[in-house]
Amino acid sequence: MKFREDMRIVGEDYGVTIPVISIDGRLGDSLLGEGRCLKSIQEQIDKKMKPVVFPIPGKKISMGVYFKKEPVNANNIVAKIEGSHPELKKEVVVVGAHYDHVGRDNRGQVYPGADDNASGTAAVLELARAFRDLEEKPKRSLLFILFTAEEKGLLGARYYVDNPIFPLEKTLAMINLDMIGRNDVDQFSLLGRYQYPELYKIIEAANRGSVNMEINFSVEQFVRNSDHMPFMRKNIPVMFFNTGGHEQLHRPGDTARRVLPEKMEKISRLVFLSLYRAANLPPGARLDNPGQEKSH
Ligand SMILES: [Zn+2]
Repeated sequence: MKFREDMRIVGEDYGVTIPVISIDGRLGDSLLGEGRCLKSIQEQIDKKMKPVVFPIPGKKISMGVYFKKEPVNANNIVAKIEGSHPELKKEVVVVGAHYDHVGRDNRGQVYPGADDNASGTAAVLELARAFRDLEEKPKRSLLFILFTAEEKGLLGARYYVDNPIFPLEKTLAMINLDMIGRNDVDQFSLLGRYQYPELYKIIEAANRGSVNMEINFSVEQFVRNSDHMPFMRKNIPVMFFNTGGHEQLHRPGDTARRVLPEKMEKISRLVFLSLYRAANLPPGARLDNPGQEKSH
C-alpha cells in the first residue's frame, strides 16, 4: 500500500493526525482477489482463533483523506433577569442547557434529541418565563443560557466563559440541565456535591421542602461531558442535573414520546427554588469549595 504523492492529509486545522478510511465488504472482497471473501476468512479465523495471512499479488492501492472546512455560524441564546438589589444585582447565577443535537446521519435519518437536550432547553425556557413573571425579583441577577454546539465539544459554553456577560468573579454559580426527561423512578442524578458542598446544600434544602426527589450521584463519571465543565475549569461552582443514560442516547429513538413531562416539571421546580435561594443569599456569600484554589 502506498500513498500517491498528490494525496495529502489535510487535517491540521481539526487536530486530526490519524487518517481513518472505511470501505464496504464488496470492495474488500474485490481487493482479496478471485475465490476469496472476507466472510469465509473471518469464519476460518473464528474457528481456529489464528490469523489468516496471505499475499495479495497484483494490486495497487492509493488512499487519500481530505477535510473540507465549512465554517458555520451558531449562537448561544441568552436572557437576563436583573436582580432587585442595587449592589447584589452586579452578581449573577447562571442556568444553562445546550440546544443543539447531532442532526442527521448520512442516510438522512433525523436524530430528534428529545431528552438530549430538548428536555433541558424547555426547562430553561420555562424557568426564564417563571422568573420574568415573578413580581419581586431575586436580589442577584439571573442569566438563562441556551448553549450551542455542545455536541461538537462544548463550544458554546467554552465561548461563554471566555466572553462572559458578567465578570466570572461575579458569577456565584452555574446550573447545567442536560437530559432531564427520562427514568420513571422518582430520582435524578446530580454532579457537583463533592466539589461544591455549599451549592449542594442549597439544592438539597430546596428539594427537601418541595419536590422531595431522591438524589443520586452516579454521574460523577460524566464530569467532562457537558456544558458545566468549562465553568468548572474557571472555578465557578456548578451543579449538573441529569436523569441518566439510556439506549436511545444519540440514536433516532430519542423521541418526545419517551420523555416524561412530570419528571421535567419536578426538576424544573427544584431548579427554580435553588436558583431563587442562591440569588438571594446574603452579601458576600460564596459557593466555592473552600478547599479549592481560586484563580480566574
Ligand atoms: Zn447532551
